[in-house]
Amino acid sequence: MLEKIKKLSRLLNESYSEKSVVASVGEFFDENFGAKEFNVILKEDYAGEKPHFPLYKHNKIIGYIEFSNTSPELEKFLDTAIYLISLKIQNIVLSEKMQKSIDFQNAMKNIAKIIETQYELNYIIPLMGEMIDKFIQNHLIYIFIKVNNKYKLMWPSACSDSKVFDIINAEPLKRVTTEDTGVFPLISENKLLGYIVTKNLDTKLNLKEIEYLDELTHQSATTINRANVYAEILKHATLDALTGFYNRRQLEERIKQEIASSKRQKTPLCAIMTDIDFFKNVNDTYGHAAGDNVLKAVSKVMRSQLREYDIAGRYGGEEFAILLPFTKAAEAQMVAERLRHAVENKAVNISKNDSDKKEIHVTVSLGVYEFKHTDSEEDLLKNADKALYKAKETGRNRVVIYE
Ligand code: GH3
Ligand code: MG
Ligand code: MG
Repeated sequence: MLEKIKKLSRLLNESYSEKSVVASVGEFFDENFGAKEFNVILKEDYAGEKPHFPLYKHNKIIGYIEFSNTSPELEKFLDTAIYLISLKIQNIVLSEKMQKSIDFQNAMKNIAKIIETQYELNYIIPLMGEMIDKFIQNHLIYIFIKVNNKYKLMWPSACSDSKVFDIINAEPLKRVTTEDTGVFPLISENKLLGYIVTKNLDTKLNLKEIEYLDELTHQSATTINRANVYAEILKHATLDALTGFYNRRQLEERIKQEIASSKRQKTPLCAIMTDIDFFKNVNDTYGHAAGDNVLKAVSKVMRSQLREYDIAGRYGGEEFAILLPFTKAAEAQMVAERLRHAVENKAVNISKNDSDKKEIHVTVSLGVYEFKHTDSEEDLLKNADKALYKAKETGRNRVVIYE
């Protein structure tokens, strides 16, 4: 008996994880007591049907070990051995907890770093999602951000659970936890910015996980708030007030960036220059305010025809420049044709009051150019503009590609 205890404690001494305990100690019980299977179950209540014996921390049960079969001999041995095994398992649980806490502190540092360097929500949110996912196992994680007073799912890409929407649409200002859902409001500087939501896959959130989530939510809210504030500042500095397109200065910046990345990645880049046809007539006939309405409507129609990463800038008065990254001339021609068509079909309301309706139509001419890697920066818009001039010369309301 003493020999066996010695042997067991040696094996336990050599094990550093639950897995290795199960492997080496399991073999020991098989060899010495003919118990074919040995398992560690770290749950306070045991649900299986095999012979099982409680593991203790002081007088508290922290889990069970189970065997496929037992014998009076084995049970007698366990009277003593169970305390050795309990001690080992306690150690393993403690060291795993410590490791998790170290990882958590590292993750918090990471979020803090993101705060300092990143402002783009589309970039920040997935990082947060992945980080939270790592700590909260056996739960699905969702991040919702308030956009125009609605809650938009930003991570991951889909959520089919209508109960989640029911809870967040009620806009709770404090954490809500139900049997299977946890809803953590993202609040910074008294503003409700969105929610982090957890959904059980099997077990409920435990107290430690709720504590983690409270802290993660707090840090994330600070980050998101900063990003929002920054985006607002950026908007005023770079966008044209009338159209919402990039202003001339910012457009030049973006041209530089896009040319650099097109050269670096060897990807095609096209520019389209557009100019509204006979725009002076609109101003002369209907007044400057009507002209402004037309500019707004035309820019909006154009934006709706572009991909998210296409760049639209107001080059001057009623001339817009559009940059199409990853796009070759033939494709850009199709985009230009689509823009032309969409503007032509748009009925613009130019009445001064909402009650009566006065609609006019305008057309645009467009010039397309594909950047060559031997070109200078100025060539991109200059050549698109030359093509535009040709479109004007040859009848307007048409697309011309620079050859
Ligand atoms: P074309 O198609 O041949 O170019 O004829 P056009 O009438 O468009 O001629 P042009 O481009 O020279 O005239 C542009 C006009 O756009 C002149 C200017 O008054 C008007 N414009 C420029 N900026 C604005 C603006 O912000 N609001 C309004 N309402 N008009 C503007
Ligand atoms: Mg013009
Ligand atoms: Mg014009």
